[in-house]
Formats: sequence, C-alpha cells, structure tokens
Amino acid sequence: MTNANVRVRFAPSPTGYFHLGSARTALYNWLFAQHTGGSFILRIEDTDRTRHHPEALPDLFDSLRWLGWFWDEGPEVGGSYGPYYQSDRAELYRQYADQLIQAGKAYRCYCTPERLAALREEQRRERQKPGYDRRCRHLTSAQIAQFEAEGLRSVVRLMAPTEGQTSFEDVLRGRIVVENAELDDMVLLKSDGYPTYHLANVIDDHLMEISHILRGEEWLPSVPKHVLLYNALGWPMPAQVHLPTILDPSGKGKLSKRKQKGPGEAERLTFIHEFRQAGYLPEAMTNFLALVGWAYDAETELFTRDELIRYFDLDHVSKSPAAFSYEKLDHMNSVYIRSLGDNDLANRLLQVLRRADLDADYQRVLQFAPLIKERLRILSDAIDLIDFAFVDVHTIDAETLVQKAMGVDGTRQTLTDSAEALQALPSFDEEAIEETLRGLVGASEYKIRDYFGALRMALTGKRVSPPLFETMAVLGRQDTVQRLRRAAQALNEAE
Ligand code: GLU
Repeated sequence: MTNANVRVRFAPSPTGYFHLGSARTALYNWLFAQHTGGSFILRIEDTDRTRHHPEALPDLFDSLRWLGWFWDEGPEVGGSYGPYYQSDRAELYRQYADQLIQAGKAYRCYCTPERLAALREEQRRERQKPGYDRRCRHLTSAQIAQFEAEGLRSVVRLMAPTEGQTSFEDVLRGRIVVENAELDDMVLLKSDGYPTYHLANVIDDHLMEISHILRGEEWLPSVPKHVLLYNALGWPMPAQVHLPTILDPSGKGKLSKRKQKGPGEAERLTFIHEFRQAGYLPEAMTNFLALVGWAYDAETELFTRDELIRYFDLDHVSKSPAAFSYEKLDHMNSVYIRSLGDNDLANRLLQVLRRADLDADYQRVLQFAPLIKERLRILSDAIDLIDFAFVDVHTIDAETLVQKAMGVDGTRQTLTDSAEALQALPSFDEEAIEETLRGLVGASEYKIRDYFGALRMALTGKRVSPPLFETMAVLGRQDTVQRLRRAAQALNEAE
C-alpha cells in the first residue's frame, strides 16, 4: 500500500519518561507511515499543566532519535500543521468551544467543584451511575448573565444526546456501539481555559489532517465521546485503530509504566533510556517491539528495519493482548550483537565502557570485540568481562590468586616462570604465547586448569574471562608481563 495521504500521529502527554507501552504505539505509527509513504507526526499533548514532568520531552526526543524513528513533523523539526505543542494552541481550542456554544451544541456550566463532589457522593450513596446531572444545560439567558456578572468560574460542556446510540468502526475490532444514555455531557474546556484531552485531541487530529489514529486499547472508551464531538463540529472522523494491550511477562496483568518486579525477581527495565543505558541495541528494540501485537507469519522473528517497513500492515495487528517477554528481548538483542561488525560493536562498547567510568581506548576495545561478541546479551555485559583491561593496577587478594593444588610457592613460581618466558618471546602473538605456556605447563607438575587459572586471575582478577592467550595478545607484552609480576609480588607481600 502506498498512500502519501496517510498521516498518523504519536501524541504523548509529557507526564513521565518514555516507556515500553508508549514506544510500541510510536513504533506502529512510524512503521505504518514508512510502509505507506505517509507522514509521521509528533504532537505533544501538554495541556494538563499539573502533570507536566520536566524531563519527559528531552527524554522522549532522545529516545525516539536513538531508536531511529524520526518524525516528519513536530517539535524541533516543524511542519506546516503546527504548532505541535497543544499548549501553544490554547486559543484555537477556545475558539472552537465558543463556536460550539454559539451553535447550541455546547454550554457553560457554573457548577462548583463542591457541588460536583456532593453530587458524586449522592450518586454513590444511591447506587446511581456517576455523572453530571446536566443542571446547567437548561439555564436561561438571564441566569447565565447573572452568573457571568457575579464572575463565577465556568467550564464548557458538550450537549450530548441522551437517547439513541453512538457507533463507530475500529479497523481491528469492527463495529462498536454504545448507548447514548451511558455518555455524559463531557467537559471540553476547563475553568482555567485549557481544553480537556477530548477537545484538543479531536480538533488537532482534524486540523492536522490525521488519516489514521493508532493508539492503545485503553483509549477505546473515549472514542464514542470523540464521535459526538466530530459530529458536533461537522467533521469526518479519522480511521480508528486500537492497539492491543501489552501484558506483563506473567501474562496476567497489564505491563506497568513503573518497575516490573515480582516477589524475589530482579528489577525489570521499563523506560527506553534504561534499555539504552543497559546496552540494548535500537535495532533489537525495534524488531522486538514490532512483534508485541503484530506478526508477519507464525514463525519469522528476525526482521531488519527495511523488512519491517516493507511488511508492516494493519491486517496483521492482533486485537488480543500481547505479552511482553524480557527473555525474548534479551535473546534477540544477543542475536543482533552477534550480527554487528567488529568496528561497529567496538564503537558501541566504547560508549558503554566509558559511561561506566572506564578509561577505555578504541583499539583495545576493537581487539576484544570479536573475543567477547558471543558472550554478550547486552552491551553492558562487556563491563564485567573486560573492565580489567582498562584499569592499571588491580588488587587481587592472595586467597583468590593462590590455586589450591599449587600452594603459594607453586602459584608464585608459575607466575614468574610465565612472565620470564613471555618476556623472552621473539614475537608476542597468540600462537607463540599458547605454545610457550603449554610448554611450561607440560614441564610442570600442575594441571592445565590450575596453571592457567593462576595466570587468568593474575591478568584479569576474574575466574572467567575472554580466552587467555588472546587476552594476553590484546594486552600486549609489557602489560601482560607486568601484571604477572605484580601478582607474584603481591604473593610475596602477603606472606
Ligand atoms: N495524550 C494521549 C496519551 O498520552 C494521546 C492518546 C491518543 O493517542 O489519542 O497517550
């Protein structure tokens, strides 16, 4: 499908960090725009001043760019349908609210918050459906004039039909019908002059010529209200696509915006910047999130960005809730890491290592890249694996260094013998190192495991490390020999 008239929007409210659920919504909009050759619009729904989070927008922009889901119109890039911040459009919403009042489709309501609270309380006591009782719907012009003269604060409410039905079509879910008796005279403009979500959202989707609305299923109950508003304004409604809820890994509850943490479980990541920091690849995140609610066929799981763009369509978006699996994401991420070229991987690792305050240099990281590639689930796994290579002196206590079977003397001898032999090697490459060290073990009374265990510990301070001979080659003769001698020295001092 190619349709340059497709215009979709991602319309977050800046109330917190950009999280997995929102990211899936953003991605589907982005993919649909890419697939159809349409436009992807970013609109900031920031009319609720009380819930504004100061870091939300920088976090959102950074995260979207990191993921590579660039927007065609919106903040920082502009476009001919702006402004793209709803807070800059307040006047516009007021004009439309006035227009609706003039047309007799909306009215000013002067009920105080206290009256509304008392009404709610009464409805609760009487076990009635909660909702506004429409008292101000029938005010006379004299009453209105008097309230205005008294300077009473008012909100603007839509005059909703009280009988009949409202219906609409959802692309995934088919026809949805609600009884108008269930709908309220909803507030369009609040007493501070700011619009509610419903009013601003409908006006903007119309003025920005949005063709398809892709958003989470939780917005479905708002749609009948929007239908009433579109009707009142005499506008056609964009196609409705409500994306399936994302379930937590247990499949029992909704994926929370906060930390995912079950009893005894490790803390789970949820914000995109956390995944970024931990060393998930944007390619893997994109591939993975695309599959939370969409499938190309029953088995294919790995898709390049271009393939996703080519294949993504609404026909294959599911309407049943989709569970989120961290294991699957981790697996996918390790597959993506393995597919990276060494230079690419080294560049990414360099950033992660430096963020962990290691004084890492590109050449050394590049040499380690192929040695550890297979072992990385996320990029930050590299920190534990190769941090030793970027610290000068590390203190290894004698207890971990001394191999039981070799004792203190044996371990010290092993370290000094190896240092001597390596120092004397004509060329310090992996094969020569291996040959020499295997020769030394053979001539000694010790087992390979113990011998090399001592060397590994002296070099890296770890029981598990990248392959030993390669590691020595990467560290270079001087560094290697020095580490071995220092460790031997440490054993002297410990005695
Ligand atoms: N501002 C709403 C949100 O935060 C937008 C919902 C919609 O897409 O209509 O998700």
